Amino acid sequence: RPLTSNDLIEEHRICVCVRARPLNKKELTMKELDVITIPSKDVVMVHEPKQKVDLTRYLENQTFRFDYTFDESSTNEMVYRFTAQPLVETIFERGMATCFAYGQTGSGKTHTMGGDFSGKNQDCSKGIYALSARDVFLMIKKPNYKKLDLQIFATFFEIYSGKVFDLLNRKTKLRVLEDGKQQVQVVGLHEREVKCTDEVLKLIEIGNSCRTSGQTSANAHSSRSHAVFQIILRRRGKMHGKFSLIDLAGNERGADTSSADRQTRLEGAEINKSLLALKECIRALGRNKPHTPFRASKLTQVLRDSFIGENSRTCMIATISPGMASCENTLNTLRYANRVKEF
Ligand code: ADP
Ligand code: MG
Repeated sequence: RPLTSNDLIEEHRICVCVRARPLNKKELTMKELDVITIPSKDVVMVHEPKQKVDLTRYLENQTFRFDYTFDESSTNEMVYRFTAQPLVETIFERGMATCFAYGQTGSGKTHTMGGDFSGKNQDCSKGIYALSARDVFLMIKKPNYKKLDLQIFATFFEIYSGKVFDLLNRKTKLRVLEDGKQQVQVVGLHEREVKCTDEVLKLIEIGNSCRTSGQTSANAHSSRSHAVFQIILRRRGKMHGKFSLIDLAGNERGADTSSADRQTRLEGAEINKSLLALKECIRALGRNKPHTPFRASKLTQVLRDSFIGENSRTCMIATISPGMASCENTLNTLRYANRVKEF
C-alpha cells in the first residue's frame, strides 16, 4: 500500500511549527500593534489592519494551523522539546535529521537556533544547536547505543550567494562536488570530533564570531546567508547518522530583487531560489517522491543525503515578528510554512 500523507504525519517525518517572539523595545516605543494571537497550541491568528473604500478601518483575521505553535512566552527549551529533540533519536537509528529556522530578519531565527546573541552576555548554551548536542551526549551513553562505539563530529558552515564557507576554519571558501555515486561532498570541510557538550559550545562560539566578523551592521551579512551546523555520528569511520540544524537567510528578500545594487539583487535572487528549492525538497520528502530537485540550489545540494534517505525526518520552525509593520512578511512566512506541510 502506498503511503498516504496521513501516514507521514503520523510518522512525523515532517513537522512544521511557528514561533512568535515578543514585541521588541523599538516596536513597544513605536506603540506598534501586536497582530498575532496564538489561541491554542496548534493555531496562529494574524489580525491584519485593513481599510474599506469609505476609509473605515477593520482587522482581517486569518487563521493557520500547524503541528505546534509557540507564543511570545515560550522558551527555547520548550520549542526544542517539540521540534529538534524528537529528531535526536533518528540519527542514532541511522537516520538523517534536519531542523530549519525560517523567517524574516529580526524574527528570532538565530535566537532560536544559536542562542542569545543580544547584549553583552552572549549565551549559546540555550539555543537548539547546543540543546541538541547536549541530548546527543546523553543518548550516546545509553546501553543500546554505547555498544555501537560511535564517534561524534561537528561541522559549521555558511552558504552565501551560492558559495560555501567553513565557519570552523576562518571562512575558507570550499568547493562542492558530486561524485559518480551521486554523493555530494563539501571538499575540505573541517569536521571536528567532540567529546562533550562544552566542546560543542566552543565550536558554536567560534563559528558564530566567524560568521559575524567584518560586518558593518549586526544583521548585514548573516541575514543574507544560511548557517548550517551539523552533528555527525560515525561508526568505524562510516557515517551512521547526521543532524543538520539550519539558520536560514532572511526571507524578506523580495525587495532586493529590484535593488539598484547589482550584488544585492543577485544575492536576493539566490536566496529566493534556495528557499523555493528547499520547500520543494521537503515536500518531495513528504510525498516519498524519488525525484528530489536538490540541484536547484547550493543549500539543497549540500543537504541532498538528508532529503532522500529512507529514514529522513525534518522539522521547520517558522519564526514571526508580532508587530504590525511586519504583517506582510509574517503572512508570507506562514503561507510558505503551510505549503511545506501540504504534500
Ligand atoms: P533573526 O536571526 O531572525 O534575524 P534574531 O534571532 O537575531 O533574529 O532576533 C532579533 C532580536 O530579537 C534579537 O535581539 C533577539 O535576542 C530578539 N529575540 C528573538 N526572539 C526572541 C524571543 N523569543 N524572546 C526574546 N527575544 C527574542
Ligand atoms: Mg539571524
